Amino acid sequence: MKEIDYYEILEVNRNCTSSEIKKAYRKLAMKYHPDRNPNNKEAEERFKLLAEAYEVLRDDQKRAIYDRYGKAGLEGNGMGGGFSSQNMDDIMDIFNSMFGGSFGGGRGQRRQSNQKYNLDLEITLPLKFNEAVFGCEKKIDIRYKVPCDDCQGTGAENGKLDTCDYCNGQGQVVMRQGFMSFAQTCPKCHGEGQRVSSKCSACSGRGYHEEPDTITLNIPAGVDTGTRLRAQGYGNQAKSGYRGDLYIIFNVEEDEHFIRDGSNVYIEVPVFFTQAVLGETITIPSLDGELELELKRGTKDKEQFVFKGEGIADIHGGGKGKLIAQVKIIYPKHLNDEQKELLRKLQESFGIESTPHTSTFENVFEKVKGWFKK
Ligand SMILES: [Zn+2]
Ligand SMILES: [Zn+2]
Repeated sequence: MKEIDYYEILEVNRNCTSSEIKKAYRKLAMKYHPDRNPNNKEAEERFKLLAEAYEVLRDDQKRAIYDRYGKAGLEGNGMGGGFSSQNMDDIMDIFNSMFGGSFGGGRGQRRQSNQKYNLDLEITLPLKFNEAVFGCEKKIDIRYKVPCDDCQGTGAENGKLDTCDYCNGQGQVVMRQGFMSFAQTCPKCHGEGQRVSSKCSACSGRGYHEEPDTITLNIPAGVDTGTRLRAQGYGNQAKSGYRGDLYIIFNVEEDEHFIRDGSNVYIEVPVFFTQAVLGETITIPSLDGELELELKRGTKDKEQFVFKGEGIADIHGGGKGKLIAQVKIIYPKHLNDEQKELLRKLQESFGIESTPHTSTFENVFEKVKGWFKK
């Protein structure tokens, strides 16, 4: 494996002064600090490398050896590899020695690499149709994770972690295949470099316990199933005391009558066939009251009537959608003798016999007969 150059890591040139090294480390370590890059393995690796490079280059003696012989020179000189520890505590000490512990808190409170859970929390919140349409205030109870005090969140008895014997605490193992060798995350400690020999009894080795919390949410009008809302600072707690965010994902119940499509809403309007034939103004329900629907004479089945601005509010402030009323023509299932007689008379008044009442099909009858003549 190619060795990563300490000067390159700190983005300085080989003959820079020690104050330039300090400045470069300060700038980059702030940028890649784990508290600023939660759950970002890459940033964490970078942060560790920066500490390693700084630890060597800030010491004139170590730097001189490194300049002449590289990393191997430091190892051969009783310098403990120049940088002996991959432990996040030591790395944080280097960082805090520069910032006086002001960033991320002091010892025991800081966020460590072996965080046992995600800092962001996610919950699904069911909402009634009208709560989603008009918005509402909701008080919800949540449970968030807090690192166990007894084991400092490690899950190990008294917080005592043993160095992983498989990778000697490196978190990585070098695999060889023929001439090739490549580093792989240690399968035994999953890259932590440490392992738990006996479990913490206070948290059964989980490294955390759960705390209840209550939040009052102001849910805006127009949220829909799948809409995500972020409640900043209501997530799980890190060892530094910092809390991640809570994400609320809505699951909106369907309504019996209104069918939602984004900010538009559909309603089916049953219309008796005589109403459709005669034409009539009827009253239909809207989301916040009622509307007058003017049926034209001869309204068809599935005909749609659009009411602009009577739909659902757009959560991004795009105004309200449409309400679309769709006609469903209803025919009587049963007729009494009187109704039958009245309808027969009505039909006769239009001069309709028991054939289609226009001549559209005349040629079709002749054509079909022709198909069967042999
Ligand atoms: Zn290991
Ligand atoms: Zn514990």
